Amino acid sequence: MAIQWFPGHMHLTRKAIAERIAEIDVVIELLDARLPGSSANPMLAELTGHKPGVKVLNKQDLADPERTALWLAHYNAQPATRAIGLDASQAAPARQLIEACRQLAPQRGSMAKPMRVLICGIPNVGKSTLINTLVGTRKAKTGDEAGVTKLEQRIVLADGFYLWDTPGMLWPRIIVAQSGYNLAASGAVGRNAFDEELVALELLGYLKQHYAALLEARFRLDAVAGLGDEEVLEAIGRQRGALLGKGRVNLQKAAEIVMNEFRSGSLGRITLETPEEFEQWLAAGQLL
Ligand code: GDP
Repeated sequence: MAIQWFPGHMHLTRKAIAERIAEIDVVIELLDARLPGSSANPMLAELTGHKPGVKVLNKQDLADPERTALWLAHYNAQPATRAIGLDASQAAPARQLIEACRQLAPQRGSMAKPMRVLICGIPNVGKSTLINTLVGTRKAKTGDEAGVTKLEQRIVLADGFYLWDTPGMLWPRIIVAQSGYNLAASGAVGRNAFDEELVALELLGYLKQHYAALLEARFRLDAVAGLGDEEVLEAIGRQRGALLGKGRVNLQKAAEIVMNEFRSGSLGRITLETPEEFEQWLAAGQLL
């Protein structure tokens, strides 16, 4: 297995979600818009699958807009599901989230029958950023009155609208090899869990096939489609002066450059999987 990621058991998280789920009306799951399938945690689906769900494709500013549209359509076709794309620059994401929840649970949202929402997502997906934005909006609206009621991590998003943060950590669970590479490339798994060169080579292999023009433009390369993955990595290292002496390329450094530039969006707006590809990976039986 290429990615060694065993962040520990999720018994406590599982237990805490299971205990809370009965009194939850809608589950908001934050996904990374660059890898929606891989950034979902299958355990969450198991625990909350019977509840209506909002899929938030976060960091959409970094993702390929055409592919985000495919994923949104994919999720919106599922029963009791609404999908929206968001990014941290959105000034008022609350309106969209509240609207999506109201559509899914129209009987809820009054003071007598408040809407009770659970928000979940793997680390680094942008949950704190989103919650801070939501809280900030509420505070601004209500002046001195505390917008946040941190009663059991409960956040009052609007009148009769309560949001709970996930109890515990929802670590990513890698179920196919490609998901592991994509999670590693996105920065969702710890650095010690993988070999950067290997992940960068996988990333380059995919980019060569689907985003050759972005790769060529960013690293001033020609015709990457005709090169092997290692040749591309070497060419990037050379181009950026990542050298070891005697003309040898520092592949480790080159790998870091590729990953950093993918993560920051400097490479361009890229999505590492389509709904169709993700289904194929699952179906190919390479389950880990
Ligand atoms: P959490 O672990 O899920 O709470 O993630 P954070 O909210 O701490 O965000 C992880 C990183 O992603 C931070 O560096 C954020 O600035 C960044 N981030 C969060 N949301 C967005 C977004 O929509 N777009 C971009 N480009 N970066 C984001």
